[in-house]
Amino acid sequence: MTVRNISCFCEKKTKIVATIGPVSESKEMLEKMIKTGMNVARLNFSHGAHEWHKKTIDNIRQVSDKLGANIGIMADLQGPRIRVATSGDVIARKGKELLVSDVRYRKSVSNMSADIFYLDYPGIIDCIKEGDTIMIEDGLIKLEVSKKSSNFLRTKVIDGGVIRNHKGVNLPDSDLNIGVVTKKDIDDLKMALENDVDFVALSFVSSAKDINGLRKRMERILGRKDDLPQIVAKIERKEAINNLDEIIESTDIVMVARGDLGIEMDQSKVVIWQKEIIKKSLKKATPVIVATQMLNSMIENPRPTRAEVSDVSNAVIDHADAVMLSGESANGKYPVESVKMMAEIIRNTEESPFDDVYKYMDLHISSEYATVVRSAYEIAKSYDVKAIAMISLSGFTAKLVSHFRPDQNILVVTNSRKTFHQFSLVWGVCGYLFKDDNNLEDLIVKMLEQAKKDKRLKSGDSVVVIIGRVLNGEKMRLVGIRKA
Ligand code: PEP
Repeated sequence: MTVRNISCFCEKKTKIVATIGPVSESKEMLEKMIKTGMNVARLNFSHGAHEWHKKTIDNIRQVSDKLGANIGIMADLQGPRIRVATSGDVIARKGKELLVSDVRYRKSVSNMSADIFYLDYPGIIDCIKEGDTIMIEDGLIKLEVSKKSSNFLRTKVIDGGVIRNHKGVNLPDSDLNIGVVTKKDIDDLKMALENDVDFVALSFVSSAKDINGLRKRMERILGRKDDLPQIVAKIERKEAINNLDEIIESTDIVMVARGDLGIEMDQSKVVIWQKEIIKKSLKKATPVIVATQMLNSMIENPRPTRAEVSDVSNAVIDHADAVMLSGESANGKYPVESVKMMAEIIRNTEESPFDDVYKYMDLHISSEYATVVRSAYEIAKSYDVKAIAMISLSGFTAKLVSHFRPDQNILVVTNSRKTFHQFSLVWGVCGYLFKDDNNLEDLIVKMLEQAKKDKRLKSGDSVVVIIGRVLNGEKMRLVGIRKA
């Protein structure tokens, strides 16, 4: 039996998701980013051909194997992103009228003399009603629908600008009964599954139905019900906020996708939603990522603004499992420096007393499992214990332990490569992978030996041991304290 040695380049509890793009796709850059603290590589399927994604996945796997690093791979599906379709720029002057239609009606309205532009989603204007808002290009341009006709909308420009082809559109007030998985997403999903990604992120989720639909689709494509990639529900629509509880209940992981959320909702309340989403996710022991514009100015500059540093620090204090880089690591000038800066902020915040406040969180999962985990956590808190060590095949026990945000290391051994990679997104979890052996005592001993080699433990350190989830028909149980 072997327990795989996993290098720990950057010991921190809060994980880093970094989006990979043209500036970070090479093996050299990936190696540097892993060594400075990246835990999960995100591939944004809104951009790039399948050949590029395939090559990048291969690069990530090769580099992480070479370094002995546990790096998860996340495929982020574009979802039903609506965009402007226009052959030339359209000037939107504040207070003026603009006509809007969608590509299905293009032929029938193209001879109208007034300024007009189109939305690229056929039939989308049927979902828009009078009084609704149309936001373009990250919400910089804002239109309000004053009158609806059968095949076009009359709108008033509230915030003006230049409307350009392919810019993103948000319809925060409209009830969009369009599917959350498009034809492009299905092709991308198949490609991602063929390449054995660890996480699939779903954009513009509205309800639990979207999550369950994706899970069923993955089961059909893979022809199995277990060992699936975990689903990341991106919370970026008003409807998702309205259905937050059922979404958290059905998904594996939650992402606070603040880019679109800040357009769909009142921007001044985004941080309040961030806190609410994290709190609700923690109560269900569901890992949660805070995303978008965390170190945005580092796309151009070698140092972030003070406000950005404060934003990352606050997400750590909120107890998020992970923080995410987008443009900073995908197409900015300083991808490695961005990871390094994020890791430094995380470490400094975790060392401070401010992230220790965790009194109101409680596990809202009542079961035998939860009771065992709580006991392990209480023992670790009361005695001079250096780690909570466990066997967790599905990762469930590890997530329950992580939910308590213990000060001690969380050492977890599993026999599933997928589960092992999925630990890359769970707060504080150091994963170990074993094969071929089912002797529980041996597994724990080997993991503790390895943890000593990794300098996560010293000889004689006290460790609380849990045997998690059914293994050889065994039930979860607390083994007690032992010496490393
Ligand atoms: C977001 O909107 O914050 C987000 C993460 O989604 P994307 O980057 O796919 O637009």
